[in-house]
Amino acid sequence: MPSLFFPSRDAAAPAAAPASQEGKAATPAAAGYFAAATGKRLAEKEAREIICDIGRRCWEKNYVAATDGNISALCDDGGIIITPSGVSKARMKPEMMIRVDRRGQPLGGETRTPSTEFRMHVAVYEERPDVAAVVHAHPPTAIAFTLAGLTLCQCVIPEVVVQLGAIPIAPYATPTTEEVPAVIRDFIRTCDAVMLDRHGSLTVDESLWNAYYKLEKLEHTAEILLKARLLGRVRELPADEVNRLLALRPKFGLKNPVIACCTDDHVARRPAPPPPRRAPAPHA
Ligand code: 13P
Ligand code: ZN
Repeated sequence: MPSLFFPSRDAAAPAAAPASQEGKAATPAAAGYFAAATGKRLAEKEAREIICDIGRRCWEKNYVAATDGNISALCDDGGIIITPSGVSKARMKPEMMIRVDRRGQPLGGETRTPSTEFRMHVAVYEERPDVAAVVHAHPPTAIAFTLAGLTLCQCVIPEVVVQLGAIPIAPYATPTTEEVPAVIRDFIRTCDAVMLDRHGSLTVDESLWNAYYKLEKLEHTAEILLKARLLGRVRELPADEVNRLLALRPKFGLKNPVIACCTDDHVARRPAPPPPRRAPAPHA
């Protein structure tokens, strides 16, 4: 299966280095992509190691600061493995990952508590049976677009249109609360990459590494759009080319529907509902 920017689904996997080697991340293609691409979910041990590698990469790329972000995977035995709450994503060890049930209750004898955003991760798995990996980060340029009320939904870069479609911004929800899963549900049904207003990113895939790559593409797109806005007008792809690009998705094995692009900056933040109409004052 050809791929525009993710490793080919048909390519033979190179020998995988142990993913948890100190200071040496396993190559993404070897570590995570191929297992998931065959429809096979990761074993818990491998998921724990890859989550640590991705966490380190998120920190190195400045997608998280301090203890921001959380990562989870649905494993081959149906269990969810998630990052612990309040730890630097650069300094995680596989044994720190927490196995939780769908209510976020730890199933092992862990002393740490699971991520405070576990409900958001569970909501994704509930809405998307095709997804087995969730990455939440705080990428600064993409977050800046949400603060400025600017859309990331424009269709401008061909391979991003094919792979992600448009990147919507979900309305503001207080981090770590029940509001977060509530606001993302509608979006994640038809999107693999969503921004949470004033907060961060949410990227999903059947494979951990691809969920992470979608984060890279999301922030890269935001950086390109920022530079284009600084230089002048952003030229969007014509609608017929967008349709042609979206029609390529099945060729690359991408089956889930994606949402259409939008040009209106104001969609970046859901507008406040209009004030209730008052009956016109009777003429005196
Ligand atoms: P946790 O450390 O609890 O996962 O929270 C980090 C975060 O990004 C909250 O939105
Ligand atoms: Zn967060």
